[in-house]
Amino acid sequence: MAINIEVYHRLINEFSAGKVELVAVSKTKPVADINEMYESGQRDFGENYVQELVDKQKQLPKDIRWHFIGHLQSNKVKYIAPFVHLIQSVDSLKLLKEINKQAAKHDREIDCLFQVHIAEEETKFGFDESDLRNIDFGELQDLKNVHIVGLMGMASFTENMEMVSSEFKKLKAIFDYYQKLPTTNFKLKTLSMGMSSDYKIAIKEGSTMVRIGSMLFGERIYEK
Ligand SMILES: *Cc1c(COP(=O)(O)O)cnc(C)c1O
Repeated sequence: MAINIEVYHRLINEFSAGKVELVAVSKTKPVADINEMYESGQRDFGENYVQELVDKQKQLPKDIRWHFIGHLQSNKVKYIAPFVHLIQSVDSLKLLKEINKQAAKHDREIDCLFQVHIAEEETKFGFDESDLRNIDFGELQDLKNVHIVGLMGMASFTENMEMVSSEFKKLKAIFDYYQKLPTTNFKLKTLSMGMSSDYKIAIKEGSTMVRIGSMLFGERIYEK
């Protein structure tokens, strides 16, 4: 299993011009591969399972910025709260409150993204537009140990690139709208959208952060 350093350097060049941040999604990949990419200069890595993230974090350099990008259960927040850099997949206020509580315990302020449901598929997690409209921003302001710094979304898994494009457009419009709301711990600057198959479209539609896995680390093989 080797990482693709040439692709990495090409992406970094491509993204630095547009000030797009790259999160290298290392889920299922061994510590050795992450280390290799770290040696090439990469510091932001994304994982989607709590146990896997905790195991890797222990073994790898402490200046890695770990992004949590998978569905997060409230009872597992405590394991990642001591070190996580950005939780990209906040999909309920219950979860946000738990992150706030655990962050306070560790005397930290944790940055979060709200995951917004933009895809056709029913299975993808996230707030939809009406959930967002119903958020009580006054209540959010009481959560002093979390900051919502942006939105994350995943487009439908489809060959139809026009559909992907319109889903990203929709997320960008939501982002622009909430960016204008004056609230203290809800200041949106990061729009996380785009993966290996659709990052070019995402950037065209205004992404500021892409999450790329298989293009850098090779295809994932899931063991049962
Ligand atoms: C796995 C994953 C990615 C990366 O997907 P690739 O297609 O391998 O680039 C990005 N975002 C999320 C939320 C993921 O779970």
